[in-house]
Amino acid sequence: MISRRRFKRWLITDLDGTFLGGSETIRARLSERLCSEPRDVGLIYCSGRALSDISPLIDSGVLPEPSAIIGDVGTGMWDAQGRTLASDFDDLVAERWSGVRPLLLARLHGLEGLELQTGTGPNRCSYLYSARSAAESAARAVREIDVDTLISGGRFFDVLPRGVNKGFAVKFLIELWGLDSSSILVAGDTLNDLSMLRLSDELSGLHALAVGNADDDLRAHFRESGRARYSRGHGAEGIFERLEQLGWVT
Ligand SMILES: [Mg+2]
Repeated sequence: MISRRRFKRWLITDLDGTFLGGSETIRARLSERLCSEPRDVGLIYCSGRALSDISPLIDSGVLPEPSAIIGDVGTGMWDAQGRTLASDFDDLVAERWSGVRPLLLARLHGLEGLELQTGTGPNRCSYLYSARSAAESAARAVREIDVDTLISGGRFFDVLPRGVNKGFAVKFLIELWGLDSSSILVAGDTLNDLSMLRLSDELSGLHALAVGNADDDLRAHFRESGRARYSRGHGAEGIFERLEQLGWVT
């Protein structure tokens, strides 16, 4: 494992559709660049995937080894080996989720057009939906429970602890590690990335990127201005394009 202190800049990126999106050749080039000297751009993944769906991609070399992994739509955070990174974070998320899951499962049980996702982390309740109307009814059904709901990617319905999302987790990590926000680029492609892209409004100097293949739901909410941009390139190509524009890679 390499020390995070050597990095001058940070790429905090979603996986599906973003770092894993676009051309495989370009992703390989981007990965190679991030892992070769001068190795000064650190990598943090921030995904809706569970850890068990991210670790094999790192172990098999599909993804380069990051300094940290945020998964489960911002409800989990680990080091590259999948060990707890911050017990304070885990405790905070678990506390907000305490007792919620059985209530949700009872409310959402048997709702048409929803399929419970298995193998996710403990502090979220996530479903695949077949029609947007099903996800919208599900969100209405849990309105009185103290949680947040998120419909994204054309198929995911997530119920998350109140206030917890990718942006919350990224901000927690930035503060934990004392990172300079002007040295950070966050990148995503769907609505579950909006909370982290919006950190560019909140944290001075932080750069946000919606990649060229960003979906319509994200496009409806994310506007270009200042350090918030869209790339032309899709997925990894868009990330590469923005890193080059910023002069962070050559
Ligand atoms: Mg994505």
